[in-house]
Amino acid sequence: MNRSAVKIGISLIILLAMIPLYYFFNPAVAKEKASTSKNEKSELHAKASAAPKKQAEQKDAANESQKKDQEDITAANKNEETVKEESVTTETASSDVTKEIQRDFLVVIDPGHQRHANVGKEPVGPGAAETKMKVTGGTSGVATGKPEYQLALEASLILGELLEKQGVKVIYTRKTHDVNLSNKERAEFANQNRADLFIRIHADGSTDKSVSGLSVLTPAKNDPYTKAIYEESLKASQLILDETKKNTAVKVNGISYRSDLSGFNWSQVPSTLVEMGFMSNPVEDRNLSDPTYLTNLLTNVADGILQYASLKK
Ligand SMILES: [Zn+2]
Repeated sequence: MNRSAVKIGISLIILLAMIPLYYFFNPAVAKEKASTSKNEKSELHAKASAAPKKQAEQKDAANESQKKDQEDITAANKNEETVKEESVTTETASSDVTKEIQRDFLVVIDPGHQRHANVGKEPVGPGAAETKMKVTGGTSGVATGKPEYQLALEASLILGELLEKQGVKVIYTRKTHDVNLSNKERAEFANQNRADLFIRIHADGSTDKSVSGLSVLTPAKNDPYTKAIYEESLKASQLILDETKKNTAVKVNGISYRSDLSGFNWSQVPSTLVEMGFMSNPVEDRNLSDPTYLTNLLTNVADGILQYASLKK
């Protein structure tokens, strides 16, 4: 044997030995690669599925809270009184505010008339064929020359302040003279705010200058539009009248039952109207423009309202 034959022999042996080695290592590498890519894939899959899972969780939470809200509404409808007294921790901030308003006694004060009358017509009550002027100009003081709409707002703001001092919630239908609010709209404002009492502030006028005195107007018993509010309105009207009678400086005439007033007929909440006195009477007109007399009188009106409010507690 020569040396080159030995070299070829060794080379062949090495080559032959590499064949199984190749097969041994190659499938292993391939298997490992496949397994790594599978791991990456499943990790990606996990990442991808995590997002929808999170969304699903949020959706569930949203559904849960919606369900809770619906339950709350149902509970509120079932028993408003009970819900009022219950803890409000699960409620939203806005419904807390609403409840706070409902918990307090709410008076809607309507200062009668406005700077410019609206001679347009509106039905005197829901479904009525008969119509009436939307809002009249009101009377004016024979001695002071003051228009009724001005006195009504002055008095309303004093009354509101007196009530607020006693913890009563007050909303006004108007705080300026330049509004366009019909009597129907004023009543609807009280309805929308679910007022515990709707009080309208006016002053009287007569062609007879000697006529004087305060009157409280209340819905009439035979009025088809105010059947639901007749009794409560009368209760409030009577209490206000009784308190004003205690004031020796004020002449008090009594209660007047009315079925012709749109401001009562459109109201779904207890309603009353104070005619503070006659602006056609020079003495009473001057008195009504005297802040001391007016505040004194309105203190009696406020006391009557507070007595009515105390019945509701
Ligand atoms: Zn008036």
